[in-house]
Amino acid sequence: MAQINKHGLARTISADVKRELRRRCGFGCVICGLIFYEYEHFAPDFADAKAHDPEGMTLLCSQCNQKRRRGVLSVEAVSRANKNPISIANGEAQEWLDISHDYLQVEIGGSVYIDCKSLINIRGQSVFSIIPPSEEGAPYSVSALFADDTGAITLKIDNNQMSVGADNWDVEWKGKTLTIRKSPRSISLVMTLYPPQRIVIERLEMELDGVKISTDSQFTNLMVSGCLMKMQKGTFRGEGAGISIP
Ligand SMILES: [Zn+2]
Repeated sequence: MAQINKHGLARTISADVKRELRRRCGFGCVICGLIFYEYEHFAPDFADAKAHDPEGMTLLCSQCNQKRRRGVLSVEAVSRANKNPISIANGEAQEWLDISHDYLQVEIGGSVYIDCKSLINIRGQSVFSIIPPSEEGAPYSVSALFADDTGAITLKIDNNQMSVGADNWDVEWKGKTLTIRKSPRSISLVMTLYPPQRIVIERLEMELDGVKISTDSQFTNLMVSGCLMKMQKGTFRGEGAGISIP
């Protein structure tokens, strides 16, 4: 594919235009709501575009974009979806996680959690759980709830199906790393997927049910009823292990 079109426009799109498109489209393909997409020109096509004007651009997953390029998906349909993106209508964009059938390791705050049925539990509510396969040949089942530091839900994982809320300030994928921001300089979550066996939470700044969880690559700090607790680092394995706040 040409890197510069006949008008001398390069493929590189500025960060501001990308963010504007992500937010306007609800962080998913405007046609099908898939979390993984490209920034596409559709009116006109990149070949005829004179600028990266967000007006004529949208988010499309590779399959929906292939239909558009083949001409089996009309400009009218893309334009209609662009005006009314499915992720905005549904309130979220979705994708299935590729999860192992053998074991699952989650890394948070420099600690490693392997096959922890209740990895994070807040006041009896399982916030992050890893359930072993119920039948042979099935994957582990991951369910999790992430919020920002005001308690607003940012990302849900329900039996390996991931959903990001369209009301987030920004949700950005770079390769297999997801970054969710509450504002320009406030990160709520950084998570990298290493399928099928590892999920690494590099940053988490969340509050749920009065409990603040703050992590970086080295530590997990919990703030419960005004008391700061530092989680001990280590490798934790099995059913009883995990972060539990009574
Ligand atoms: Zn799509």
